[in-house]
Amino acid sequence: MNTDLLEQVCETAQGFFDRGYAFGSTGNLSVRIEDRIWITPTGLPLKGLTPARLAEIGEQGQPLNGNKPSKEFPFHLAIYRRRPEARAIVHLHSTYAVALSCLAELDPEHPMPAITPYYFMRVAPLGIVPYHRPGSTELADAVEAYAAAHHCLLLRNHGFITSGASWNEAVDRAEELEETAKLSILLRGERLRELSEAELSEIQRVFVPSGGKVR
Ligand code: ZN
Repeated sequence: MNTDLLEQVCETAQGFFDRGYAFGSTGNLSVRIEDRIWITPTGLPLKGLTPARLAEIGEQGQPLNGNKPSKEFPFHLAIYRRRPEARAIVHLHSTYAVALSCLAELDPEHPMPAITPYYFMRVAPLGIVPYHRPGSTELADAVEAYAAAHHCLLLRNHGFITSGASWNEAVDRAEELEETAKLSILLRGERLRELSEAELSEIQRVFVPSGGKVR
């Protein structure tokens, strides 16, 4: 067990709570170390957590300690199945991402305007997952289907999920997703200077490893 990493997860959880990215007992976070997964417990807020309070489960969801995992653990398992490189997952109901997820008109190809390079470096392409009841098998199945092509997912009328090859990568993606959603909502109705195709191609060339497409 990597205690330093689990402590980092608990510290970041507290930071999400303190900054209003997570409220009540919403949000769940996990890390995978070899074939074991540590995930935040069900029914508890993302504040005051310690490594000893995290639930430890196997890749089939079997309990490996006495703590009960978040009810969303099936979609964490689904992402780890689909994305072998994934070592960390962040799921939050942060305000602006949820606001975006509730808009009736949301172009799946361009859910947010092309306004900053950072969105394209860290988030795009954002997958839009249709609404299913939180905690349901249908939601986990839908997440699994979208996870193969997207490391960041917006869940309709719910929130978002980011994954990464490291804890920091998943967290950076989560912060960038919420920030870009915030800008998108603040700028709704304004005439925007969007990044051009040439500017996007340059970002693709310089920052995005081969294989990933910024749009
Ligand atoms: Zn949720």
